[in-house]
Amino acid sequence: MADVHYFAAYTDSGCLMGCDHKHATVISAVACISAAGGYVVAVEAEQPRELNYSEEREFQLAIHGEILVRRTIRLWPKAVPPVLN
Ligand SMILES: [Zn+2]
Repeated sequence: MADVHYFAAYTDSGCLMGCDHKHATVISAVACISAAGGYVVAVEAEQPRELNYSEEREFQLAIHGEILVRRTIRLWPKAVPPVLN
C-alpha cells in the first residue's frame, strides 16, 4: 500500500483548511477535528483524496459509534443519512 496519511479538514469561505499533522489513522485525525462539520481527508502519493469505503467506515465509527455504522452500511450504497434517534 502506498504511503497514506490523514488530516482533519474543514472548509472556510470555500477554502479547504486542515490540521498540519500527518495522522497515521482516520480515527486519530477524527480526534483532531476542531470545527463543526469537520471531516477527514486522506493524502496518498502527496495528493489529497476522499476516503475509500473502509476509511469512511472507520470515520463513521469514530463519529457515530457502531450502531449507526451498521445502519449506514446496511443502507449503503443509497445516499440515505443514518437515523439519529
Ligand atoms: Zn491533526
